[in-house]
Amino acid sequence: MAIQLLPPRLANQIAAGEVVERPASVVKELLENSLDAGATKIELDIEKGGHKRIRLRDNGAGIVKDELELALSRHATSKIATLNDLDRILSLGFRGEALASISSVSRLVLTSKPVAQEQAWQACCEGREMSVVVSPAAHPDGTTIDVADLFYNTPARRKFLRTEKTEFQHIEDVVKRIALSHPHVTCVLRHNGKPVKRFPGVSQDNYPQRIAAVVGQRFIDNAVYIAIEHQGMKIQAWLGNENAMRSSTDCQFSFVNGRGMRDKLILHAIRQAYESVLGVLEQPSFVFYFDIDPYEVDVNVHPAKHEVRFQQSRLVHDFICKAVCDALAPEHSDFAEKARP
Ligand code: ADP
Ligand code: MG
Repeated sequence: MAIQLLPPRLANQIAAGEVVERPASVVKELLENSLDAGATKIELDIEKGGHKRIRLRDNGAGIVKDELELALSRHATSKIATLNDLDRILSLGFRGEALASISSVSRLVLTSKPVAQEQAWQACCEGREMSVVVSPAAHPDGTTIDVADLFYNTPARRKFLRTEKTEFQHIEDVVKRIALSHPHVTCVLRHNGKPVKRFPGVSQDNYPQRIAAVVGQRFIDNAVYIAIEHQGMKIQAWLGNENAMRSSTDCQFSFVNGRGMRDKLILHAIRQAYESVLGVLEQPSFVFYFDIDPYEVDVNVHPAKHEVRFQQSRLVHDFICKAVCDALAPEHSDFAEKARP
């Protein structure tokens, strides 16, 4: 076969294979976009575990009419402009792929109204070339993204979808992570028209109140609290004690620079600390915030940004492990404290 350029929709569908694994991945990308747009209120409506519809409405900055088409194109982003920007990523997104990928495997409609624009406009993609059609719409300040019939045109992917219940659990998990990383944002989650979760925004740094809302008051009441800074690294964490051990990993939340992830190195360091102090076999529960200079960490490792790479991974691992050890075994500790903030 002769070499030929793939039509845009097909190219985007191939890229979607990496980013859009299931409905929860769509929810994650859309939530991250809303947060990057400075939204303080986000409402999510899910139908049939996200198989049928995922609709997100935010009150963020919006997208001007002339940029709607770009927002849906691949490799178009407002978040980085040069290679140097990649070294210092402060936004959650930067690859400019999510909307193009999602819209290539669903029926996506993007509606937006920036405050300074009088009228709202909406855009969707059509056909092999993914040509964008823009038309006037009614919408308050902010953005709505409506994603219907996910994977309708990619049966191979659709086959891998689990039950409505399982897919919705994954969505809930994503929403919890976002709720924990952004306490000041109000998040509302509905499934098949029924309210499931409502996390009212609390003041910017009121993590305990938000953690109580997401994980439970009992967890926070019994957790050991640590706050430590060392060589430009910062930990703020709530560590479940022996009574809070669980048989699954459903209460393990870790964040790197405000980005929720299951980073292997961090999880390993925390587990190792628990094991050395408590000799546990079951799963510890924790909510763990780790901050480090963005120069020291590469987030461009995985298209869905599930992993990061630390420049000084040994240093990070040992710092985390020691901090958790000292907090769990305060009798040997020099800097852990059990007091809550
Ligand atoms: P990325 O987030 O990597 O830039 P996306 O495909 O997710 O790429 O989004 C493309 C662009 O569309 C963003 O850079 C942003 O400018 C704009 N955008 C997407 N979602 C929103 C939103 N909810 N509010 C405002 N702008 C948005
Ligand atoms: Mg994005």
